[in-house]
Amino acid sequence: MTTTTRTHDIVIVGGGSGGIALAASLLRRQANLDIAIIEPSDQHYYQPAWTLVGAGEFDVASSVKTMHAVMPNPVKWIKSAVTSFAPDESTLSCENGEVVQYQQLIVAAGLTLLWDAIPGLVETLGKNGVTSNYRADLAPYTWECVQATRSGTALFTQPMVPIKCAGAPQKALYLSAAHWQKKGILGNIHIEFHNAGGALFSVPDFIPNLQAQMASYSAQVNLGSTLVAVDGVAKKAWFESKDADGNVQRVEKSFDMLHVVPPQKPHRFIKEGPLANADGWVEVDNATLQHPRFANVFGLGDCMSAPNSKTAAAIRKQVVILAENLLALRAGKPMPMKYDGYSACPITVGHHKLILAEFGYNGVLMPTFGKDPTPPRAIGWYMKKYLFPWLYWNLMLKGREWFARPKKPAVK
Ligand SMILES: Cc1cc2nc3c(=O)[nH]c(=O)nc-3n(C[C@H](O)[C@H](O)[C@H](O)COP(=O)(O)OP(=O)(O)OC[C@H]3O[C@@H](n4cnc5c(N)ncnc54)[C@H](O)[C@@H]3O)c2cc1C
Repeated sequence: MTTTTRTHDIVIVGGGSGGIALAASLLRRQANLDIAIIEPSDQHYYQPAWTLVGAGEFDVASSVKTMHAVMPNPVKWIKSAVTSFAPDESTLSCENGEVVQYQQLIVAAGLTLLWDAIPGLVETLGKNGVTSNYRADLAPYTWECVQATRSGTALFTQPMVPIKCAGAPQKALYLSAAHWQKKGILGNIHIEFHNAGGALFSVPDFIPNLQAQMASYSAQVNLGSTLVAVDGVAKKAWFESKDADGNVQRVEKSFDMLHVVPPQKPHRFIKEGPLANADGWVEVDNATLQHPRFANVFGLGDCMSAPNSKTAAAIRKQVVILAENLLALRAGKPMPMKYDGYSACPITVGHHKLILAEFGYNGVLMPTFGKDPTPPRAIGWYMKKYLFPWLYWNLMLKGREWFARPKKPAVK
């Protein structure tokens, strides 16, 4: 393979939510920047919609646009995948043989979904009542399964965090249960939530209301219970949990519907490279999002190490911090902004009922609307279904930062 070298001032790895939004935000500040995005995919997804697709509330076609359509002008799109980084030389290598040199690098490559980590899962996904809202092609099948299930057992799983949108596994449960309730068949369906983690949600303030929602659907919550194998044809799933003495118990469950959220890990090209921390995520300073060892490198979104909850809502705020800090760095000035860990998880607990969980580092509540954010509200449902998708395509991906800027710069 021939190797060529090209140079750009700013190189962004990944044309997902973070990469496109950041490029647009940088260009709004400085239109003449030379920016390249390296992205292998032809498609760009608005993933938060897939929860609603799985509930028959959103057309999956409206969750996807071509990469070409969202690529900000005049960004250069390098249609390839990054394979390795050489930060000492400020270069990276791509699958197509190109070596790209940069002045500043932002890694925004998302994370890997480990579908094949659960034996039997890949063979049965999309049939036998086994589904997942974590893929655009499968989310419509979730809705088919929900409609087809009229009695029996429905299982919903969540792997260990970190995962993207840690509320999404239980959103699938609530919306399915709400449909069965509406149809008057909820009493015929036994629902179980199997969460590999030890709590229903990472922020304790939201747990009582989430538990109340589970109880309202008579859903059985199993914490510390990990999906380890599936046999779709036999309609059986196996779970492992540890008792207090550390003994592992394996439990077999029959199901009529199984909604799976796969384990999630850093991409291998990041984990095995020089930018990773010990866990494999792009290492960043939690406040500035700058790499601690390579000053001209930043991390953004799901692929980086800051301990925020991994959501597009978090990225909306990170983009402002990063754009300001990156341009200050280029101008030889101190970086002016600090990220407070803001993230938001709109938890659809039923039809027209949503808990808008907004919080920062250490679970500090950060409600936008100044009220107690923990109970479900109808207004949140309409925001999730209509406002947020519009805001994503028309504001966030266009570099319009309405409501995204921190209230005041954290440092002068
Ligand atoms: C079912 C579901 C529900 C969700 N619900 C919500 C919600 O309600 N609210 C919310 O805010 N968020 C939600 N999220 C999370 C949100 O969608 C993600 O956090 C966000 O999209 C992550 O953006 P990103 O840019 O980090 O990664 P992505 O948007 O995943 O983009 C990563 C990009 O990097 C590219 N890439 C991968 N490898 C390479 C490589 N080697 N070289 C170059 N490019 C590469 C990929 O092709 C991809 O385009 C949800 C997600 C899911 C799946």
